[in-house]
Amino acid sequence: MNHPAELALHQYMENAANGKSTMSIETIRQVGLDVMGALGRQFGGGNKRDKFGLRMSNVGKPTCQLWFEKNEPEKALPLPTTFVMNMMIGDIVEAVFKGLLKEAGVKYEDDEKVTLQLDDDTSVTGTYDVVIDGAVDDVKSASNWSYTHKFESFDTLRQSDAFGYVAQLAGYAKASGKKAGGWWVVNKANGQFKYVPATGIDIDKEVDHIRQTADTVKENTFERCFDAVPEKFRGKETGNMVLDTNCGFCRYRFACWPGLTERPAVASQAKQPKMVAYVSLAKEYLDG
Ligand code: SF4
Repeated sequence: MNHPAELALHQYMENAANGKSTMSIETIRQVGLDVMGALGRQFGGGNKRDKFGLRMSNVGKPTCQLWFEKNEPEKALPLPTTFVMNMMIGDIVEAVFKGLLKEAGVKYEDDEKVTLQLDDDTSVTGTYDVVIDGAVDDVKSASNWSYTHKFESFDTLRQSDAFGYVAQLAGYAKASGKKAGGWWVVNKANGQFKYVPATGIDIDKEVDHIRQTADTVKENTFERCFDAVPEKFRGKETGNMVLDTNCGFCRYRFACWPGLTERPAVASQAKQPKMVAYVSLAKEYLDG
């Protein structure tokens, strides 16, 4: 276990599974209020999903994506109909998780809105989730894949951090003057949870990066952060170029790469080849 509170949480969950736990009316009420607030935010209309501004939750994203969000938001792929339900699941998980912390006897400070002042006229705001033992923690709900691979450790998270979670946590820590703790991660598929400490996080380096991002957004010139990558099949290059994995979740990938096509791997002989995003195809693979 990576955090002293994990033991208390597991003990509480074991008691709950055996029908031996209790939950105070106060905690039940607070979880209910948090979920009600989330319902209002997610389904209440008039939310600011499309209004661009730098926030802790987006400041760690690649600057090319931020350029699109600021200048050509209409070119984004439509959000899937599952989007809001997924956001709701995240909010419910966070609300319940905090209730569990409380009932397990873990002392924590609740969420708070903080502002990171970068210079006289630039700041980034956001609301952190919890503070335990003087360290800021974020609560994340994750798919089974993400729970296992991306949140395996701080290093694996940092290596594929397309959503900018590391910058987000560093921003909260700097803005609040507290230590950076880590991430409480809940597996949406089966209810497992764990703590991933941000061991070795360099707050000053992350904040410098946030500052650079803010400067680039202000300059407002578009430059891709990732190049296309040669496709390989059985260790050999096929001559085709594919999207960098960092672009895989980008909602602007079709606007960014004119001619992009997503199709089953063209060199594969498998019955159900995996889907690949091709930036360009070599002559022999062109249709017709
Ligand atoms: S597709 Fe890739 S390079 Fe283009 S905006 Fe998105 S993340 Fe940046």
